[in-house]
Amino acid sequence: MVTTVATRAFAAQSPTSPLGPHTIERREPGPHDVKIDILYCGVCHSDLHTARGEWEGTKYPCVPGHEIVGKVVAVGAHVGRYKVGDRVGVGCLVDSCRECESCKADLEQYCYNGNVGTYNSRDKHLGGYTFGGYSASITVDEHFVLTIPDNLPLDAAAPLLCAGITLYSPLVHWHAGPGKKVGIVGLGGLGHMGVKIAHALGAHVTMITTTPAKAEDARKLGADAVLISTDKAAMKVAEKSLDLIMNTVSATHDYNAYNRLLRVDGAHVLLGVPPTDMPAPAVGRMLGNRLTLAGSTIGGIKETQEMLDFCAKHGIVCDIETIRMDQINEAYERMLRSDVKYRFVIDMATLKAA
Ligand code: NAP
Ligand code: ZN
Ligand code: ZN
Repeated sequence: MVTTVATRAFAAQSPTSPLGPHTIERREPGPHDVKIDILYCGVCHSDLHTARGEWEGTKYPCVPGHEIVGKVVAVGAHVGRYKVGDRVGVGCLVDSCRECESCKADLEQYCYNGNVGTYNSRDKHLGGYTFGGYSASITVDEHFVLTIPDNLPLDAAAPLLCAGITLYSPLVHWHAGPGKKVGIVGLGGLGHMGVKIAHALGAHVTMITTTPAKAEDARKLGADAVLISTDKAAMKVAEKSLDLIMNTVSATHDYNAYNRLLRVDGAHVLLGVPPTDMPAPAVGRMLGNRLTLAGSTIGGIKETQEMLDFCAKHGIVCDIETIRMDQINEAYERMLRSDVKYRFVIDMATLKAA
């Protein structure tokens, strides 16, 4: 019998209702669980897509949030890696089957039996479905808990748990590094981490943005070049100049515009998840240049810890704007207008008063 505790949270009750106060049940720690008081939670565009039902399958009430950092307040009897007081994080995953080929290869995000997302996934412990980090606390199996290195501030480290790993994993997989020209499409939460991490890996980085006003910031973040994707002449000049593209666009768009920027053997990695699928890209360009159109999602737990340690070593954190819990609906509107530099992070101490 699992005991639960009523826990304060913020939830969307329907695709069209603003998020507001809500109470959820959290399980008390089992033998392998860690209970975490949540101090900060980043705001990912996936939270908005899910809360508003833009992807199929949102269950309501929906408590988003998968860029979670906090302090351990209780541990189960068999927990070995964490103790009360530790600074920890939880990203997009809270469980997986742990037995399939992917899980055994530390690729829990690609679990053949379906990973358990931090929110809106089947809850193995309580039945029902999982609730995310817009809440006072969370209980997670220690395997899915990360250590936040001491030199990283908790608030600015929170978005590393999704935005950071979502860029780190494909950049490493596709060998971004010295001698490689990497384009990052979209300067939002994911994109700004892409610029910082690709730069730290030693690649030449081009920021590809629809927003000319972001050019100066892009350079400060580490971009060597900036390409305004609405500038047709500049896009023409940049044709066949890049080896690798990380596409973080959250809205429906045309893949072909970016494929034209790739050299022979270039790869275009899709990371954004627009609400509607786009038409397949032009075949002639793909085969005429031996291009790869690829996809990638977050990263496994081992790689997420590796990313946190890499960021600690290189002094990389996110550029954040801290908000109160009751500002979340306004923050979603601003995110849609690309009006955030470059990630909102909720100060969860403000949940009590919200
Ligand atoms: P975000 O902060 O809102 O950034 C998205 C950026 O896309 C915007 O800042 C904007 O950059 C660009 N953009 C928006 N509309 C565009 C359009 N019509 N054409 C071209 N560019 C456009 O969002 P995010 O949190 O980084 O998330 C981005 C996407 O990745 C979302 O769909 C999210 O669900 C998805 N995601 C995927 C994973 C994964 O594992 N694969 C993980 C997390 C999030 P500019 O102003 O610079 O053009
Ligand atoms: Zn996310
Ligand atoms: Zn598995």
